[in-house]
Amino acid sequence: MSTIPPESKILESVTDAIISCDEGGRILWCNPATSTFSGYPPEELLGADISTLFRSDQGALVLRDPASEVPAVPRQAQRLEAQHADGTTIPVSILVSEVHDGEQRVLTVVVRDATVGAERERDLERARDELGMQMRVNRALEAAESSEALVDGVLREIISLDQLHVHQKAGLFVVEKTNRNDEHVQLPLVDQSPFYLRLVHSIGDFSREFLNRETFVTFGWCLCGRAAASGQVLVSDNCCEDPRHEHCLHTMAPHPHGHYIIPLKAGGEVTGILFLYTDPNPVWDERRRVLLETLGTQIGMGFARAQADEALRESRVELIRLATYDTLTGVLNRRAIFERLAQERARVERNEQNISVILFDIDHFKRVNDRHGHAAGDAVLVEVAHRMKEALRPYDEIGRYGGEEFLMVLPGCPGPTAAEVAERLRRHLSETPIESNAGPLIITASFGVAHCTGEMTDEALVSVADDALYRAKRAGRNRVELG
Ligand code: GH3
Ligand code: MG
Ligand code: MG
Repeated sequence: MSTIPPESKILESVTDAIISCDEGGRILWCNPATSTFSGYPPEELLGADISTLFRSDQGALVLRDPASEVPAVPRQAQRLEAQHADGTTIPVSILVSEVHDGEQRVLTVVVRDATVGAERERDLERARDELGMQMRVNRALEAAESSEALVDGVLREIISLDQLHVHQKAGLFVVEKTNRNDEHVQLPLVDQSPFYLRLVHSIGDFSREFLNRETFVTFGWCLCGRAAASGQVLVSDNCCEDPRHEHCLHTMAPHPHGHYIIPLKAGGEVTGILFLYTDPNPVWDERRRVLLETLGTQIGMGFARAQADEALRESRVELIRLATYDTLTGVLNRRAIFERLAQERARVERNEQNISVILFDIDHFKRVNDRHGHAAGDAVLVEVAHRMKEALRPYDEIGRYGGEEFLMVLPGCPGPTAAEVAERLRRHLSETPIESNAGPLIITASFGVAHCTGEMTDEALVSVADDALYRAKRAGRNRVELG
C-alpha cells in the first residue's frame, strides 16, 4: 500500500524553484531548488527581495505585468534570466499565482529552467535562417537567364546574406578539364594534374593585378585548388597566417580576413569553387559546414543546368541555321527559299501586290572548275551569292536553287521591273571580275524572270523562270529573258 508523502516533501523534491513572497516581493518561503537556481543557501533567501534572483534589469518584471505595469496575477508564463550568485545567468520561465492566506495576499512564483527550450528555439531560428538562405539562393538560380547572369546573381545573393557575415567580396572559379597546353594558360607551378581552375567571375573590390594573377590557379594548390581537389568545404580563420594560402600569401596586403571556400558540385564532381571573404575566425561548426556544402551542391547543379540549357539553345540555333542556310554560300538553301516564296506569295496576295522570281545560272561554270580547280569554283560561288545578295533590296531574298543556280524572290515587283532588276544584276556580275587564286575571273550568268499570276503553284512559277533562263542560254548566255 502506497502512502502519499506530505506536501512539504513534494515541494522539496521538485526541480522547479517554488517561492512564496508578499506583495512587495519579500521572500516568505522557498523550496531547496531555489538555492540551486540562485546559488544562495535557503536561510539567506528568506526575507530577501525576489527581484535579486533575476538579471538586474529584469527584477522589476517579476511581479509586474511588463505590458501594463500593474501587478497581474495569475498570468502567462514569462521568459526571464535567473541570476546566479556566481555571476552567470540562465534562461527561465516564471509563472506567478496568487494565494489568499486569511487576510494576507501571498504570491507564489514557480521558476523553471528554460535552457533546453531556449537552445531549441535558437536551433529552430538557425534552421529557419538556413532554409531562408537556401531559398534566396534558389531564387537567384531560377531568375538567371544565362550561366553568366546566374554566377553574378548567386554571388550577389550570397554576399548579402546577413547570416553568413561575409564581406562584399567573392568570386567563382570553374574547374577546367580541357587541354592545359593552351598558350594562354600559364600556371604558376608545374603539377601533374590535367585540371586547373579558371576565374570566371568576381564581385567586390579586387585590384586588376589580383584578378590577373588569379585567372588560373593550379588544381590542388592554395585554398581554392585544395578545396577543388578534396571536394571539401574549407575555412580559413586568418588567411594572412594560413600556410595553405601559399598562392596569395606573398602578395597579400596586411588585411587579415577569413575565407569560406566552397566546392560547387554536379553529378558527384567538383565543377567549380566559390570563394567568400569573411571576418577573421568565421563561424565554423559541423552545421555551418553542412550548410555551405549544401549551397555548393545547389549552386553547382543550377550552374550545370544553366550551361546545359545554353548548350541546348546554341545547338538548336545551329540546327536551324544548318536547316535554313546553304553551308557554302551562306544564302538560304533550296528548301528555305521555297518556304520564303510561299510566305511572300501569301502576304502579297492579301495586299493585292505583285511578286516575281528570278532564276539565274552561272555561264560555263564547269570551265571554272576544270581550269582553276574546284576550290576556285567554290570561291566564285561564294562571291556571286554575296554580290547578288548585297545588290538586292532588303526584303528581296536569294537562295541556292542547286549547283550554280540561284533563285531570287522579289515581293511587290511586277515582271518588267523584275527584268530590269535582273539586268542590273547581270551587269553588276559581269562588269567586275571576281578575284580568285587564279587571278581575276570574268564571270557571267543567264537570267530567267517570271511574274506570278493567278493560281500558279510555286513550282509552276519557278518552271516559267527556268524556261526563260533556258532561252537566255540558247540565245548566247549573259542575258535576261522574261517568261
Ligand atoms: P552553262 O553555261 O550551260 O550553265 O554551263 P555550265 O558549265 O555552267 O553548266 P553545267 O551544268 O554543265 O555545269 C555546272 C557545274 O557546276 C558542274 C558542277 O560540277 C559544278 N558545281 C555544282 N555545284 C558546285 C559546287 O558546289 N562547287 C563547285 N566548285 N562546282 C559546283
Ligand atoms: Mg551553268
Ligand atoms: Mg546549271
